[in-house]
Amino acid sequence: MIPAAFDYAAPGSLPEAVELLRRHGEEAKVIAGGQSLIPAMRFRLARPGVLVDIQRIPGLDFLAEEEGVLRIGPLVRHAEMEASPLIRDRYPLLAETASVVADPLVRNLGTVAGSLVHADPAGDWGAALLAARARVVLTGPGGERELALEDFLVDTFTTAISPDEILTEIRVPAPAPRSGGAYLKIERKVGDFATAAVGVQVAFDADGRCTAAGVGLCAVGPTSLRAREAEAFLAGKRFEPEVLERAGELAAAASSPVADTRGSEAYKRDMVRILTVRALARAAERALAA
Ligand SMILES: Cc1cc2nc3c(=O)[nH]c(=O)nc-3n(C[C@H](O)[C@H](O)[C@H](O)COP(=O)(O)OP(=O)(O)OC[C@H]3O[C@@H](n4cnc5c(N)ncnc54)[C@H](O)[C@@H]3O)c2cc1C
Repeated sequence: MIPAAFDYAAPGSLPEAVELLRRHGEEAKVIAGGQSLIPAMRFRLARPGVLVDIQRIPGLDFLAEEEGVLRIGPLVRHAEMEASPLIRDRYPLLAETASVVADPLVRNLGTVAGSLVHADPAGDWGAALLAARARVVLTGPGGERELALEDFLVDTFTTAISPDEILTEIRVPAPAPRSGGAYLKIERKVGDFATAAVGVQVAFDADGRCTAAGVGLCAVGPTSLRAREAEAFLAGKRFEPEVLERAGELAAAASSPVADTRGSEAYKRDMVRILTVRALARAAERALAA
């Protein structure tokens, strides 16, 4: 199917883009990589009257660590996250996530920010960035506001963004000493959305006890989920096998998958358990080897 008719604007600055969104209200939609919006328009699930293309606005593709925070600009593509030496060296959780989003064609065009605003519960970035304790910056006519990602992700395909706001930055706390992360995904075939996936970020003290744990779950709930009980359980513990097993059980209990062509409810829940155990073990290995 071809999309319904729409007007197209390519503003040259952020204030211009925000003004277009303000003027057109619910009628307008930002377009970045188009990898979710264009398919939705082709199926007529989305019918924006005006597309505000932010891709020609200079300076929105920054990716840098500054003063203890990784700053990801709204035009950073999945492929840039995958290839960046900074991300590969310092943020294995994010590098692994980028490498399993869709296929190379989608990764070359789609953005991390677009993925968060799209808020597909099967989107990989939501789970990974929840584990990493990310925050998002939204810019609108009244200026900027900053939200924790878990407050931003409200429901399936629903976020806290207003129609006149643009997600202008994702902020990830820089890794503490002795910390590590991992992202593990089960998919039916390469390039598919997750059957289930788990992202974790952990840190340890000098005695090998866990000082912080983030566990994010993908494709097993109405939105990306945080496995809070598993996170709390891990605090202060060494990662002995029985500790990891229990954390896996708690993460599985936090999930609420639905049966579909990718698997039954029970299968997905069990995949969460297993992926959590393995991701925690891999993240701990990285943290304690560092
Ligand atoms: C074949 C295929 C396979 C895929 N497989 C996966 C997968 O395995 N894992 C996965 O996570 N994703 C997958 N995706 C989805 C895709 O990776 C992301 O959802 C997509 O990249 C979103 O980013 P975008 O820049 O393309 O956003 P767009 O499609 O341009 O926009 C998506 C939504 O976000 C809004 N938006 C975009 N940027 C901003 C911004 N800065 N501020 C405010 N609103 C904004 C748009 O208005 C729209 O509502 C797949 C997509 C395809 C086509």
